[in-house]
Amino acid sequence: MPQAGPGVSPVEGVTYVGIDTLQEQTRLKALRRGYTFNLLVVGRSGLGKSTFVNTLFKATVARRKSGEEEPLPSTTEVKTVSSSLSEGGVRLNLTITDTPGFGDHINNENCLSSLDVEVLQRLDKIVNVVPVVAKADTLTLEERAAFKERIRADLSDHAIKVYPLQEYEDLDDAPENMKIRERLPFAVVGSTTWHEIHGKKLLGRRSNWGLVEVENKSHNDFAYMRDMLIRTHMQDLIGSTAERHYENFRRARLSTKTTSKVNIVNGQDTDHMEDLNESKI
Ligand code: GDP
Ligand code: MG
Repeated sequence: MPQAGPGVSPVEGVTYVGIDTLQEQTRLKALRRGYTFNLLVVGRSGLGKSTFVNTLFKATVARRKSGEEEPLPSTTEVKTVSSSLSEGGVRLNLTITDTPGFGDHINNENCLSSLDVEVLQRLDKIVNVVPVVAKADTLTLEERAAFKERIRADLSDHAIKVYPLQEYEDLDDAPENMKIRERLPFAVVGSTTWHEIHGKKLLGRRSNWGLVEVENKSHNDFAYMRDMLIRTHMQDLIGSTAERHYENFRRARLSTKTTSKVNIVNGQDTDHMEDLNESKI
């Protein structure tokens, strides 16, 4: 029996077109190019953003031997760290941008939460927003639940859209996404210190009453969040950013610039890139 291929018909009288190779073509292209995933961390100063970025990198990239905790300088500029990871022949360029706390240089006494709202209302139009509560180890379980509830109410009152969005999801993804939405905002613990427990190296924060393990799902939501970002929803995050957010942003940008110059190079709105680089959001 002749093998299916260009010009060879697997079924008598039907010309083989080759649509079934699309999946393989996509896979090969992705393998060659690799994937690019960009993460921007925003929030006020002292919240734990830099620690969080380093934790995510350590939990994802560097499973190093236990070491001393390096003091983290407070972030005074937008800092981007990138790493090229490879697993099972798939390449991932992971880029995480850490930002100085927003609102640090303006007088925002008594109005920080409204600044959060203001920032999020702008961000949810151009990126997928994943809300996170930092330093979850400083809250009791009751406080954590109450805080999550308050944030969910705030997000809903101000019509801030967070990922994963119900309106765009496939029916197949709905049960999984519902579980994620019920958990939001992720209450996470960050640490860059490895501890050796029963011969296993664990990231965590030690206290008098024990070790809070970063990647232990019964201690905090870090692993749930990491799994969503990397293991289950990365492709959707990348795709929806390109297909929806970037397109929406570009359209809005073009319509406000109809009378002025718009820089588009190779299909990319270079003004937009500048905005992102300078983090003017
Ligand atoms: P940033 O200004 O938002 O970048 O905050 P940093 O990452 O510099 O953290 C500010 C302080 O909070 C540091 O002393 C960190 O060690 C501490 N910190 C960060 N994450 C956590 C956490 O999950 N739990 C606790 N208890 N402290 C944390
Ligand atoms: Mg910082």
